[in-house]
Amino acid sequence: MPSPLTVLDSLGRPMRDLRVSVTDRCNFRCGYCMPREAFGPDHAFLPREEILTFEEIERVVRATVDLGIRKVRLTGGEPLVRRNLEALVAMLATVDGVEDLTLTTNASLLAGKAQALADAGLHRVTVSLDALDDATFMRMNDARVPVQRVLDGIAAAEAVGLGPVKLNAVIRRGINEHAVVDLAEHFRGTGTTVRFIEYMDVGHSNGWRMDDVVPAEEIVAAIDARWPLEAVDRDYRGEVARRYRYRDGAGEIGVISSVSQPFCGDCTRARLSADGRVFTCLFATAGHDVRTLVRSGADDAALADALRAIWTGRADRYSELRSLETVELPKVEMSFIGG
Ligand code: SAM
Ligand code: SF4
Ligand code: SF4
Repeated sequence: MPSPLTVLDSLGRPMRDLRVSVTDRCNFRCGYCMPREAFGPDHAFLPREEILTFEEIERVVRATVDLGIRKVRLTGGEPLVRRNLEALVAMLATVDGVEDLTLTTNASLLAGKAQALADAGLHRVTVSLDALDDATFMRMNDARVPVQRVLDGIAAAEAVGLGPVKLNAVIRRGINEHAVVDLAEHFRGTGTTVRFIEYMDVGHSNGWRMDDVVPAEEIVAAIDARWPLEAVDRDYRGEVARRYRYRDGAGEIGVISSVSQPFCGDCTRARLSADGRVFTCLFATAGHDVRTLVRSGADDAALADALRAIWTGRADRYSELRSLETVELPKVEMSFIGG
């Protein structure tokens, strides 16, 4: 039940999950997110003074928790390239009301960080991994990072209690379709749930075309043909993955079908960009600046009022509208607001 303080947007959706992008930088150049042509050596990343400090992030998080946020996920860019991220984790772990504190990472730096993150109070990690063979994975990450580095990161996270790890895999037609069955086979029976994500038309730099999308139906059918699956009920409102369990008891998979079957009606997610703007949709055309307010010495009540106004004014349902083939809108890059 929503508490009396819970704010609802204009479509009746509560604010439940907050994704905090801690940096716009990344050590990968995944073609679907930060293609090298657009994010080359001359790319202007945010200057340090524009990025929220840990104290500023903590303040915004505390304010959103008062309005209904229960889950906080650190993301980026690559969150682990931000120095001393564990200090932020330790600060957020003390915020009353945060029931789930997680991190989404490419895991290339996770093996060296897992212990510090667990000690700081992180609950779980989600790891992105798009293939199990080096040739395909390096083609996807465009940074020469081998699969084993990610697998070592996952093992390290599980060893320190940050498991079971959830895995995200973006599937692109003609590039890593074979990874669907490879990943399912590798992680079946391990406790790790692989969530296959339809390649989305976020941002502008990835040159997205509908033809590049492998629909969730097709992903499920490919796995079901090898290891029969059955659908599982959703756990909670706002759960974005549709879940399936292996009939032989070897665990679950998920599919995130934001392109073929949009789920805007249940979208309870807000996003805070590294430079302190709140985005109420992954496909939002603009964010709402809260950094200026925080830096101008506004008190907690003023900050809460501003956030409440942002959420109550929310009417986003981009994915549903996309299926209606509405007009093309300018969009923000995924690496900016963290997926
Ligand atoms: N760097 C971290 C990582 O890759 O896990 C965190 C940030 S990344 C933007 C968050 C998630 O967004 C990743 O799982 C990534 O695969 C996903 N993503 C990025 N671009 C995407 C796209 N065009 N379509 C679908 N998912 C995408
Ligand atoms: Fe970096 Fe993650 Fe984007 Fe890949 S998906 S470029 S790892 S931010
Ligand atoms: Fe939520 Fe926007 Fe995605 Fe719809 S398109 S599910 S409103 S983030």
